[in-house]
Amino acid sequence: MDDDPTTQSANDDDGRILVASLLLKLRSIGISDRKVLNAIEAIPRNLFVPEELMHLAYEDRALPIECGQTISAPSVVAMMTAALDLGDRHKVLEIGTGSGYQTAILSRLARRVTSLERFRTLIPLAEARWAVLGISNISVVQADGNQGWSRQAPFDRIIITAACETAPSKLVAQLVDEGILIAPIGSSDTVQRLTLFQKYGTRVDTRDLGGVRFVPMMSGVAQNL
Ligand code: SAH
Repeated sequence: MDDDPTTQSANDDDGRILVASLLLKLRSIGISDRKVLNAIEAIPRNLFVPEELMHLAYEDRALPIECGQTISAPSVVAMMTAALDLGDRHKVLEIGTGSGYQTAILSRLARRVTSLERFRTLIPLAEARWAVLGISNISVVQADGNQGWSRQAPFDRIIITAACETAPSKLVAQLVDEGILIAPIGSSDTVQRLTLFQKYGTRVDTRDLGGVRFVPMMSGVAQNL
């Protein structure tokens, strides 16, 4: 028996079949970006979900995590990552670390990722997962993502993994010229629109990428937890 959670599901035969069928599913819904598919294949999602839900880790569905939050479905992670059009020199800001799964995927495709999370409890859990995987190009901070992270701005790419009620103009302002920001936009209790913002000087172009459902972006850092 292999007790190592990083290899258990990804490396045994059953695990390989689960990963392969997830990749087929992602291809079938139009995700063809090789680098993104490779990252999904390389990062064991089972490591990022609560132990009692590990058997569902390779299903294409969002799952509950600590602090009442969720890990996004793999198809949403893949779609958002592909739309970011990442390059290996890119400096990326992520709002909403959660389990740290999306962060880990980004870290394989970019130079450096800064991730902001409002729940202190989630931070060491995510850091421990990245450490197990040998990932060292992520910094995570407990902070209110609504403010962005001006001390390291501008960023080449920004990804918000919680729903914003309105366009996050404060964060768009922290992008480089031609930088891309992706965020779910809409009120918390309805389906939101995944929206891509690209900045060209003072102009910002937007593109609709479809309906999604994310937990809401809250204001301020969490006082408990
Ligand atoms: N990307 C995550 C999904 C996280 S769910 C994953 O792959 O697991 C959204 C996360 O956004 C939650 O952890 C929530 O606490 C966080 N969040 C919500 N509002 C925030 C804010 N204002 N600042 C920072 N993080 C926030």
